Amino acid sequence: MSAVAFPIPVKAAGGCSDAPVLRERGQHEVFCGLTGIIWLHRKIQDAFFLVVGSRTCAHLIQSAAGVMIFAEPRFATAIIDERDLAGLADANTELDRVVGQLLARRPEIKLLFLVGSCPSEVIKLDLSRAASRLSAQHSPSVRVLNYSGSGIETTFTQGEDACLASMVPELPTQAADAAQELMVVGTLADVVEDQFIRLFTHMGIERVRFFPPRRAADQAPVGPNTRLLLAQPFLADTARALQARGAQLLSAPFPLGVEGTTAWLQAAATAFGVSAQRFESAVSAPTARAAAALARAKLHLDGKSIFFFPDSQLEIPLARFLARELGMRLLEVGTPYLHRQHMAQELALLPEGTFLSEGQHVENQLDRCRAAHPDMVVCGLGLANPLESEGMTTKWAIELVFTPIQGFDQAGDLAELFTRPLVRRMRLAA
Ligand code: SF4
Repeated sequence: MSAVAFPIPVKAAGGCSDAPVLRERGQHEVFCGLTGIIWLHRKIQDAFFLVVGSRTCAHLIQSAAGVMIFAEPRFATAIIDERDLAGLADANTELDRVVGQLLARRPEIKLLFLVGSCPSEVIKLDLSRAASRLSAQHSPSVRVLNYSGSGIETTFTQGEDACLASMVPELPTQAADAAQELMVVGTLADVVEDQFIRLFTHMGIERVRFFPPRRAADQAPVGPNTRLLLAQPFLADTARALQARGAQLLSAPFPLGVEGTTAWLQAAATAFGVSAQRFESAVSAPTARAAAALARAKLHLDGKSIFFFPDSQLEIPLARFLARELGMRLLEVGTPYLHRQHMAQELALLPEGTFLSEGQHVENQLDRCRAAHPDMVVCGLGLANPLESEGMTTKWAIELVFTPIQGFDQAGDLAELFTRPLVRRMRLAA
């Protein structure tokens, strides 16, 4: 086993704002961006995701999504077969035929995404040209967009980023005299969106749009009077595209736990001139409910140690929540990418001296994890079973993306996602 090297913690002015970060490059264990289809297809209810890929891609989507027997799914794979790969068939003609059949059979589809994959990139199938051609053919009833879910150098949440970024050029331009509007960016469960709408309304912020929308036609205008509030930490390209259209990003931590949610709402309240009194009146009851739920979870988690492998890009906000609100000890917080601007407030809140790593060399990281003996490990599915067999307690990172965890009313559920594996392990050991 190779030597385990930890960077020497330095004193940082604000939490981990200036903390050293171990950057690693090597073998990494991640899912590809196609995975985002699982939650995106539930969100945009009249969209369809057509993966242009191989049987491997089809299997990934089907096993991740579960088999839908009674409902017609809103995703499918147009399989690139040997004839396409050998250049014997015209992949564009085939694709046009498949899309024509699909849209004839499913008139409820209003937005079709052609989702690129490793195989479509290998045969250099130009899905952007295909999307323009098919959009012209099927408009105005259906818009066709494209993005890449290829997994060669990405992490699985980047699929959502690529999908949302592909929608930005389609958004209408805001009128020059438009009133200030809030745009919450990132897929949230409908129940969470509804809770946030109630809170914003209570504060007097009425002009709120969510991106992506529930219906394809509900396109929020964008321009200099748009204020962006990121609900997910993995949306670098989407935020950049919206900012290029004049929207202004509000700096905030992410809405996980009481503290994160309060500060996230506060960023909007400040931008919209909400008084301290009105803000307090909106958040006081849900804050108290969430604090009570967290107190129960803290009985199990306080003082327990946790190690994060890089996977979802939610690692830093989760670590901040677990350390500050539940008393967990952070042994290592790994993230696939560290976006310093989007993470600025999160880093400032992380306990000083937290070991941060970016990227992955999985063997080195496994050595550090074993040496650290964490009470819990957050990692991808590929690492979870081997680590469990070594006696470690694991939490699947992907579950944290599929589950509604944002906002006050979900804070207790989020904490419970961490208490459950620990309690189960204790029972097994008893
Ligand atoms: S990694 Fe590539 S080939 Fe594998 S499922 Fe994802 S897109 Fe398809």
